[in-house]
Amino acid sequence: MNIVIFGAPGSGKGTQSDRLIAEYGLHHISTGELLRKHIAEGTHLGKVADSFISQGQLIPDELMIDVLHDLFRQHPEHIAKGVIFDGFPRTIAQAEALSEMLKEYNTEVHAVVGLDVDEDELIRRMLQRGKESGRADDNIDTITKRLQVYHKQTAPLRDYYTNKGSFHPIDGNRTVDEIFDSIKLVFCNK
Ligand code: AMP
Repeated sequence: MNIVIFGAPGSGKGTQSDRLIAEYGLHHISTGELLRKHIAEGTHLGKVADSFISQGQLIPDELMIDVLHDLFRQHPEHIAKGVIFDGFPRTIAQAEALSEMLKEYNTEVHAVVGLDVDEDELIRRMLQRGKESGRADDNIDTITKRLQVYHKQTAPLRDYYTNKGSFHPIDGNRTVDEIFDSIKLVFCNK
């Protein structure tokens, strides 16, 4: 089963992905983590990514889709296992590319779990994470930009996946355990 965990920055996608991996043994693809690894290693991709991430902007679609495509080609076994996509897709173009790529492996996106969290809570969580992890883009200026980008470029995916019948909204303002229980219900009904 391939799941997209969807939500604004700070909505708890990474936390819930960790729980899903522990429970269902899925493979985790977090594009944000992947890019941060490239930045830490100083690769060419890392340098390009850093210039967008530090401004709170999205990496251009063509580049992001190429990165995913390479990952699929290098590790087809991950797709066979089932994947949690965390932070991808973030645009309609990426969503369409994802369906095409999965089709090559005779599979699809089975469910999209959307974590709904109030904006003041998102900001509170990201500022807290910035303090604890030192994550460079968790500062108030970049957070504000990321939220604007989310509303403009990423939020339209809600309607896109709702029209496909695969979107499952979940109240993400609750505790980690309560949210995870709701996500498990989506799994049970699939
Ligand atoms: P995240 O860890 O998912 O919050 O991602 C951190 C940053 O990485 C985002 O603010 C974007 O700049 C970049 N990024 C991550 N995933 C994508 C994606 N699918 N498309 C474009 N940019 C991305």
